[in-house]
Amino acid sequence: MERWKKQLQNSLVSAKQLSEKFDIPMSDVMAIENEFNIKITPYYLSLIKEKGDPIYNQVVPDIRELEDNQLMQDPLAEDRDSPVNNIVHRYPDRCLFLISHVCASYCRFCTRKRKVGDPSKISLRFIDEGIEYINSHNEIRDVILSGGDPLLLGDDKLEYILQKLRQIPHLEILRIGTRVPCFLPHRITAKLVRMLKKYHPLFMNVHFNHPDELTPLAQKALGRLANAGIPLGNQTVLLKGVNDDPQVMKKLMQKLLQARVRPYYIYQADMVFGTEHFRTSVEKGLEIIKALRGWTSGLAVPHFVIDAPGGGGKIPLLPNYLLSMNEDEVVLRNYRGKIYRYTQPGENGKLTVEELLSPELVDELV
Ligand SMILES: *Cc1c(COP(=O)(O)O)cnc(C)c1O
Ligand code: SF4
Repeated sequence: MERWKKQLQNSLVSAKQLSEKFDIPMSDVMAIENEFNIKITPYYLSLIKEKGDPIYNQVVPDIRELEDNQLMQDPLAEDRDSPVNNIVHRYPDRCLFLISHVCASYCRFCTRKRKVGDPSKISLRFIDEGIEYINSHNEIRDVILSGGDPLLLGDDKLEYILQKLRQIPHLEILRIGTRVPCFLPHRITAKLVRMLKKYHPLFMNVHFNHPDELTPLAQKALGRLANAGIPLGNQTVLLKGVNDDPQVMKKLMQKLLQARVRPYYIYQADMVFGTEHFRTSVEKGLEIIKALRGWTSGLAVPHFVIDAPGGGGKIPLLPNYLLSMNEDEVVLRNYRGKIYRYTQPGENGKLTVEELLSPELVDELV
């Protein structure tokens, strides 16, 4: 049996195992087990150093998941934007295609918490229907394979979908969204990568939330994907008790670049039922961007976004670098907090020195 399958087979999935391993009351774990799926690969489990650390918090259930905090089951209203089973079509030229209902491990903060692990919510029976939808909508030029985790499909099933999609002439790029390089790097076999590279241009977005997740094994898996010419991006969820710290985030982004992964998004945690204990204030995200921009490689700075509740899509947020703007000039603040002025172009493209410089600067000069 392949190593990755063995990992999955030996994953920690039951309340009893968890309760024993981490000394959590059996009744707590059982109550959670009734509501949400639990799964942790032996590999990811081995990264836990102690109870309550950033790795532990992401995958070990917490009784607070059952608190009624008025959060939502489908905060992004994905069901509303789903024209056929398995497709979420919200933006003009691209869509999500959910092709797997399982993940290598289950994140306690997952946006699709009520869906993952449930074969009736994301079903392989509807794959052909999804392909047909994309085929008949020629405005779609970018498809994002998601789930669940697409890389938990066997090579053959995944290749069936990729080659069907590649036959659609208006489809320009394919993307795969996956947390497998983080939870189960063993899945990135030479054989898988040889298959994937037949379907270029193929992009992959991976999901790392903490620098300790970039182990030598994970780095090796990412290196294999990069060597196959697959441009790698990373999506991070901002989570209390995991990565709500500018220094931790900086280290994460720098380690990702070393593994040839370009940080793409930091998400403000969605308003998902049972995840209140993970949410940070929005200011925390802005503080993190402020601590990155200018202080380290621009390549290490992702976009900080809120996926708007109710299905408005991703909205980028920036610390306030633009202090004022009118037709004459723009007043800017740099990463160190110093103020700079940029003069707008004049109507005739020709400006006198007096016009070029802001009044205050002219005062300074004369
Ligand atoms: C995130 C998302 C996309 C992709 O957005 P990009 O900004 O292009 O990466 C597409 N569709 C849906 C529904 C999404 O949530
Ligand atoms: S890997 Fe992604 S889809 Fe799966 S549980 Fe984690 S966040 Fe949800």
